[in-house]
Amino acid sequence: MARRTTRAPATDARFPVPLRGIDVDAETRCAHWEDRVDVIALRFACCDTYYPCFSCHEAATDHEVVQWPADRFDEPAVLCGGCRTTLTAAAYLSGGDACPHCGAAFNLGCREHRHLYFEVSADGAEPPDGAEQSPDSS
Ligand SMILES: [Zn+2]
Ligand SMILES: [Zn+2]
Ligand SMILES: [Zn+2]
Repeated sequence: MARRTTRAPATDARFPVPLRGIDVDAETRCAHWEDRVDVIALRFACCDTYYPCFSCHEAATDHEVVQWPADRFDEPAVLCGGCRTTLTAAAYLSGGDACPHCGAAFNLGCREHRHLYFEVSADGAEPPDGAEQSPDSS
């Protein structure tokens, strides 16, 4: 499948939303998660653009990431690479293990990383005051 690398300020014309990344295929898989089963891209508030993963953002831009803020969870923030439908952050975070539109499976492992993408703590709850979680690399 054709893969394409897109860096700022360009975006990838194959998708209905602004999207960048490294070796992105038509279902938004990228160079960093070669064998992952899920097919989503996540929107970052800093540049209002979707990326297949955190590492794609780091590679495609030169600024610090800003996670999707909790007060915008009712806006589209997740792109399903299977059907190219956008989901709101709330729908994704509260939803199931698959796209509600096309049924594409979402990787449960992503839940461990949701705090990298959304303004939530690692277990999905609101972060307690002053208790900053330090993301690890696992
Ligand atoms: Zn950004
Ligand atoms: Zn990536
Ligand atoms: Zn879908």
